[in-house]
Amino acid sequence: MRYLTQQQISKFHPAVYLCTAVLLLLCSTLPAQAAKKVWTRGLKSRNYNFYIYDSRKSLFRKVLNNLENARSQFELFLPPPPGVVPERGIVNIYRTRQQYLSAVGKEFSWSSGVWNGKTLEISPPPGESSRNAYRKYTSTVIYHEGFHQYLASILENKVMPGMWFNEGSAQVFEDIQNSGNIAIPRKKENELVKAVRMFHGDLYTFMKKDYKQFYEAKNRNLNYRFANALMFYLYVGAASENSPFAKIPVRYVHLLRRYRDQFKALNVLKKEFDLKQLERELRAFWSSTSRINRARRYRKQP
Ligand SMILES: [Zn+2]
Repeated sequence: MRYLTQQQISKFHPAVYLCTAVLLLLCSTLPAQAAKKVWTRGLKSRNYNFYIYDSRKSLFRKVLNNLENARSQFELFLPPPPGVVPERGIVNIYRTRQQYLSAVGKEFSWSSGVWNGKTLEISPPPGESSRNAYRKYTSTVIYHEGFHQYLASILENKVMPGMWFNEGSAQVFEDIQNSGNIAIPRKKENELVKAVRMFHGDLYTFMKKDYKQFYEAKNRNLNYRFANALMFYLYVGAASENSPFAKIPVRYVHLLRRYRDQFKALNVLKKEFDLKQLERELRAFWSSTSRINRARRYRKQP
């Protein structure tokens, strides 16, 4: 199994997921090796292998189906470039927190999901959970990590995308429905509206933030929320209004592949799109309930 020098981690906080993209030289392949020892059930689908340590196989069959649905939406919104076949994902789902920690290692004791190359390690939800709560939590964490894995695979693991794009998109796809629309929970919607209102400074500076700047503790939550708001507008809001800004996600992936450098890709994007105008549109969108509601109903057509 191949491992990368890049890791994606999610942390479960009472209400939010915090993720980090750590540029680490992985000194071990511990996660997957440990995982192999604990899984008891295997499930296989078109794009994924699931290894679960839980007797509720039917529960996870549903989760796996949901992930396959989400995956087809990833492909619809960000199609694999010609000639690129996205890698098969390996998903390890643990029954207990202890199992998860023994698989990912103590250094990730704060996380709820770790994405490592093609493998996703998923912790159970904190505390006792109902079947429904378990399924919802697991799906959300899996969709988020699943998107990181999908994006890395269409970039053929050759370039690190900007934080605004990677974390913003992963959060957008947390809310993907089987019907294909992206239904943000109302509570989250309010947080995104607030994040856009609280955002000061210009968009280009935000998009240039590297890992360290994005994770700066003081502004981390705001950065996450603002990235989510930006990407929701680009994938859904702009698309539902036939705005040319809807072309940005696919174009950015193309530029990343071409230049293999997120900052070069961003600078070309800045020449092609008026980011000042995008910022004005973004603010206008998030202050209009009718525009948000129209976007919630939007479904991307194949
Ligand atoms: Zn993330």
